[in-house]
Amino acid sequence: MPGATRVGFQPAATAGPTNVSGMSHGFETLAIHAGQDPEARTGAVIPPIYQTSTYAQDAVGAPRQGYEYSRSGNPTRDALQECLAALEGGPVALAFASGLAAEDTLLRTVCKPGDHVVIPDDAYGGTYRLFAKVAERWGLDYTPAKVSDPAAVRAAIRPGTTRIVWVETPTNPLLGIADIAALAAVAHEADALLVVDNTFASPYLQQPIAFGADVVVHSTTKYVGGHSDVVGGALIAADRALGEELRYHQNAMGAVNGPFDAWLTLRGIKTLGVRMDRHCDNAERIAAYLDGHAKVGQVLYPGLPSHPGHEVAAKQMRRFGGMISFRAAGGEEHAVEICNRAKLFVLAESLGGVESLIEHPGRMTHASAAGSPLEVPGDLVRLSVGIETVDDLLADLEQALG
Ligand SMILES: *Cc1c(COP(=O)(O)O)cnc(C)c1O
Repeated sequence: MPGATRVGFQPAATAGPTNVSGMSHGFETLAIHAGQDPEARTGAVIPPIYQTSTYAQDAVGAPRQGYEYSRSGNPTRDALQECLAALEGGPVALAFASGLAAEDTLLRTVCKPGDHVVIPDDAYGGTYRLFAKVAERWGLDYTPAKVSDPAAVRAAIRPGTTRIVWVETPTNPLLGIADIAALAAVAHEADALLVVDNTFASPYLQQPIAFGADVVVHSTTKYVGGHSDVVGGALIAADRALGEELRYHQNAMGAVNGPFDAWLTLRGIKTLGVRMDRHCDNAERIAAYLDGHAKVGQVLYPGLPSHPGHEVAAKQMRRFGGMISFRAAGGEEHAVEICNRAKLFVLAESLGGVESLIEHPGRMTHASAAGSPLEVPGDLVRLSVGIETVDDLLADLEQALG
């Protein structure tokens, strides 16, 4: 598993021309340079934080380089957007105040009352809540389906009414794997868009547009930002016309991130590749340790050959990521005790930062799904494996398991 070459994975960013001097570059180069040329006036190597709401105009109707108001456009946000577009291999990327703000903008751009959406049956709790408690009241119907099973997704589609097939892969918190190329075919057959929430993988590990996705969603709060210091979201469109429609709604609905948040996110992105490799190294060691441990039931990690999605993950991901879920052998109370006993693994929601986190999805991140078809097992523990010294993480888990 460690260091294995994934023959199916073709990083889009290195496969075609990009926006760094019009040349083709590797992922890490784009992460550091795309959208981030030295500033023209001073040569500042890092894009400045343009902390301004408005811009002086040279004449009525003549804003400089198109900048007139920071909801509509801000150079720091533009730098982030250009970089995200390069990393995901799409023509348009848009940054938002949070992942959910990005999702809301996407739904209200693409859907109208009476439409229908297929969602994962173990979607991120906040995404499920957006569909179940907010969008449904506005007349958007939804059906949860097992996204690891293309036939189940096809069966959930209502031809003529379904506008979006929405998938996460890997899913949160059960680490299910959806076959992006297969689902793109299923969605397109029904004239629906395939939307992929790529938060768990990050563009370093998986580039859904290369496999046929129409829109990629991110909570940049997680791996993309990577330091647990900023909340943000993004949409990347595969098609320029759809991207421009989304850009219109980004301004019309107004859920943009501020310049400082955009800057922090961009600062995090520069190290995305090296961080992800260490997240994967550590998670592979920890998954191997948990697998077969007497105090642990099933281990959910797509890198384990026993994982039902392992083959599909190997086809579409560079490596298998830093997220691991497992069932506590002693049931729900044991799961809660493990979370409470962990010391180095901080008991907290969220994921994808450099520090390791542990949580009980049933009572924390996914509490909003309790009593719904998306309820998660009570004995489940979720780890966001950070980039600390792995032996320290293993020792902490050993004492926490009891
Ligand atoms: C956190 C998360 C979101 C929501 O993003 P926010 O930035 O918290 O609004 C969406 N999808 C997934 C998979 C997430 O983990």
